[in-house]
Amino acid sequence: MDVIIDYLDDAVFNKVYPSTWGSSSGLRQFISLYIVTTIFGLLAYYVTAGINYMFFFDIRILENRLILKDQIKLEIKMASFSLPIMAFLSAICFWLEVRGFTQLHSHIASGSAGFFSIILTSIAFLAFTDACIYWIHRCLHHPFFYTRLHKDHHKWKVTTPWASHAFHPLDGFLQSLPYHLYIFIFPMNKFQYLILFGLVNIWTVSIHDGLYKVPDVLKPVINGSAHHTDHHKYFRVNYGQYFTLWDRIGGTFKNPDGFQEGKQG
Ligand SMILES: [Zn+2]
Ligand SMILES: [Zn+2]
Repeated sequence: MDVIIDYLDDAVFNKVYPSTWGSSSGLRQFISLYIVTTIFGLLAYYVTAGINYMFFFDIRILENRLILKDQIKLEIKMASFSLPIMAFLSAICFWLEVRGFTQLHSHIASGSAGFFSIILTSIAFLAFTDACIYWIHRCLHHPFFYTRLHKDHHKWKVTTPWASHAFHPLDGFLQSLPYHLYIFIFPMNKFQYLILFGLVNIWTVSIHDGLYKVPDVLKPVINGSAHHTDHHKYFRVNYGQYFTLWDRIGGTFKNPDGFQEGKQG
């Protein structure tokens, strides 16, 4: 985020903040990060969910008897309320990153070493965050946390892409915490991190779109929309994010109805 803040300081913020308020001020950096995270978070949600809704979402889902009246409006309302609060909590993590507390770096080795380093660290990032999100999600189904936090997201028995970020703000932040945590523990290139952060948000939208098309060879491995649809339907199965691994280890894997009934894919 330091790259983005440096760019926006030159382009916008230096003209807006008082000239006596230097760009190295911690408070100024936090305010800038909060503004950027809120605007970018909302825009990314509207654009990604909007594109998915128009081009990928199975529109027949809207005829499902479990769809609530005005559900899309309710999903957008909840996400639009929660995202600015999630952005505040995320901005604290980004601030720590800008202040140099993480292991982000700008180095890329040349040649094939650089290429393999990017591939391996991306796999490590996905493996780490997938495991953490699985266990956080399972804890969120404990009655104590479920009634206070996670119930809001399960209001949607059948989902649309607009449900992807329609969470209680603390629930949404807790499930994104592994993305922040990773860079405090492991080194990663800062541009690679920004790209991965964007991609995992697109994935979160995609598992709510009811599109079950996955190559047959990947069906046992990838936790896609068919799996997450069953999570919203049966509550205590398929807690995973990208892979089915932890559901299999944790005894919560369920072969999706969508695959068994041959609805799609
Ligand atoms: Zn859940
Ligand atoms: Zn969901």
